[in-house]
Amino acid sequence: MALKAGVVCGEDYVELVNACKEGGYALAAVNCVGTDSVNAVMEAAAKNNSDVIIQFSNGGTQFYAGAGMEDAFQAKVLGAVSAAQHVHLLAEHYGICAVLHTDHANRKLVPWVDALVDHSEAYYKENGKALYSSHMLDLSEEDIDDNLSECARMLERMAKMEMSLEIELGITGGEEDGVGHDIEEGADSSHLYTQPEDVLKAYDLLTPLGHFSVAASFGNVHGVYKPGNVQLRPEILKNSQALVDQTHSTGNNPLNLVFHGGSGSEKSKIAEAISYGVFKMNIDTDTQFAFAEGVGKYVMEHSKAFIHQIDPEDGTPYKKFYDPRKWLRAGEQSFVARLDEAFVDLGSVGRSLAK
Ligand SMILES: [Zn+2]
Repeated sequence: MALKAGVVCGEDYVELVNACKEGGYALAAVNCVGTDSVNAVMEAAAKNNSDVIIQFSNGGTQFYAGAGMEDAFQAKVLGAVSAAQHVHLLAEHYGICAVLHTDHANRKLVPWVDALVDHSEAYYKENGKALYSSHMLDLSEEDIDDNLSECARMLERMAKMEMSLEIELGITGGEEDGVGHDIEEGADSSHLYTQPEDVLKAYDLLTPLGHFSVAASFGNVHGVYKPGNVQLRPEILKNSQALVDQTHSTGNNPLNLVFHGGSGSEKSKIAEAISYGVFKMNIDTDTQFAFAEGVGKYVMEHSKAFIHQIDPEDGTPYKKFYDPRKWLRAGEQSFVARLDEAFVDLGSVGRSLAK
């Protein structure tokens, strides 16, 4: 099986998802905020001969357009368009398959996703493929029927361009860009676990409409916290798959599952989740830290160059140290090194479908 290198959409995306599930590996879905992080993801993917998912939160796209842009909504839309165009232009030259995706959108952010689908419609007319491979709607705060009916509306729009929709059932703990839920110590955590009956309901409603994936909650939490608050229970994924299979005789792992809040997870739980049909694991917190760590180390090593253009005592010029390409590159390299590890954990090394 081989796909053309570059952004994968439609049938190619479906083929990639199926290859992951059949091959027992998953793709890293890496949150990006600008060309530094996007390029680091493509570099890491090329280096590891792995396909990858490049994704943006609403705040990430706003930052991509520029934090100084006055109209925040416009920045979120245009930043997402700009980021996607960057990846469409460059990904094929890195020789890997890249999926373009947007992260959590709650009710307030539905207009953002609709605006991006408008842009995909225009792009599709010109290029025969959508601007984004997939988007996420996270209406997990709402009741299941409201959640699913809005997802159905969006998927119907997107399916015309063979785009895929990621939905969320149950609640991923923690917070990401203002979307999410705080974890209270000792609080009842049953709402953090997806109910297999809800997953079946989603399967029944959305399967006729188009391609979709499910971010199911099995105790996963955004961010890295001290362990012990919530227990990861990947068997919830297994039970959801089994219920759909038993009801519709689909065969093993009919659902395309997504693992949110993967940063800081035990490696054995990651492997177990993949065996239950997880094809995508989000990574944000760990790569954020990796970028900061790389820059921080560089700044500490060359601290004078961040205070003086020329050494006040001996007149040494520091230009070659404060040049942003030097310290941003240090961040990128550290980001790439963290992704090397993620690709190993997810089993995607050497498995790019790009020819
Ligand atoms: Zn998430």
